[in-house]
Amino acid sequence: MTSHQRHYDVVVIGAGAAGLTAAVMLARTKLQVLVVALRDRFNSAAEGVRNLPYAEGIAPSDLYGTMERTAIGYGVRFVWDEARTASATDDLVTVATRENGEFTADRLLLATGPVTDLPAWLPEGTWGKRVFECPFCHTYENDGDHFACVGAGRETLGMALMSVQYAATMTAVIRDEEAAAGPLADRLRARGGTVLVDEVATASTLAGGEIEMVTKGGVTLTAGAILLTGVKQPAVRFAETLGLELNERGGARTLVSGRTSHPRVWSAGSANAPSFFLWTGAASSGQNAAQSICEDIAFGPLQSSYWQELGRTASS
Ligand SMILES: Cc1cc2nc3c(=O)[nH]c(=O)nc-3n(C[C@H](O)[C@H](O)[C@H](O)COP(=O)(O)OP(=O)(O)OC[C@H]3O[C@@H](n4cnc5c(N)ncnc54)[C@H](O)[C@@H]3O)c2cc1C
Repeated sequence: MTSHQRHYDVVVIGAGAAGLTAAVMLARTKLQVLVVALRDRFNSAAEGVRNLPYAEGIAPSDLYGTMERTAIGYGVRFVWDEARTASATDDLVTVATRENGEFTADRLLLATGPVTDLPAWLPEGTWGKRVFECPFCHTYENDGDHFACVGAGRETLGMALMSVQYAATMTAVIRDEEAAAGPLADRLRARGGTVLVDEVATASTLAGGEIEMVTKGGVTLTAGAILLTGVKQPAVRFAETLGLELNERGGARTLVSGRTSHPRVWSAGSANAPSFFLWTGAASSGQNAAQSICEDIAFGPLQSSYWQELGRTASS
């Protein structure tokens, strides 16, 4: 086991877009920063990162490798380990790791990304290659393919409408009969799409890489690209144990600044599971949180609290 300094100004849990961006900004303000993280990021399975005009298509491993080296250059320390628990008092936060013991800090930034909940029928090796969860990230690269959007209801129809311009054919496979009779479904049909009320039972990869799905209703569908809804779930693990106020999706409720209901805890990135949260959005929210932490240090009690900004008290 490596010997590590045990107390920091800020501990960041997570080394994705949000965590690494925040860590660099915090270290540049001369704070001592520890990042506790695992190497698996939400987009690790993708071949390239899109919508980054300054590094379009860069492999996730290259992007994160560069960011880690930048952070190390500014003195950020890394512990590549799972954070198992996080607790916070009025004065101190404590993060316990699986193999490297406990670390304390004055402030904590949760940047854990979402929990990915993939359906059991997904063929091995297709997530991030043929199967995605966003209409902006890899649809362009699959222009002209046969598409399927699979999920519960309205959100899936929305995903299909946002992506139909790329699709040779677009089939939305949804469970919700009411949504299939609603205006989004009508609009998709008017744009040439098909709406199937059914559930995928099994799927396999064909020799050409397309995915063949068989539904519970016995329909066979072949798609070159699949968009899933409902796979991105909020990361509630630390939000719950820290007693943070939760949002309507079940993730930590934050201000735009990343402030949570605990005065020593911030949260950034897609951990709180807003839909279609792209890489630069996660990075920007990491910067917002870093700025807010710096303001908290600089202004102390002159800084308005989470509750003041919401115009509420903890119990209202
Ligand atoms: C397949 C796929 C492809 C995508 N492609 C694109 C794209 O091309 N362009 C685009 O703009 N967006 C894309 N996205 C979305 C983009 O990846 C996310 O918006 C962004 O990565 C979210 O960043 P984040 O920092 O919130 O989370 P993440 O990048 O997931 O980082 C979370 C970090 O927290 C760590 N962590 C979590 N729990 C713990 C724990 N208990 N202990 C220690 N560490 C922990 C993780 O290991 C990781 O280091 C894609 C998403 C997917 C799923």
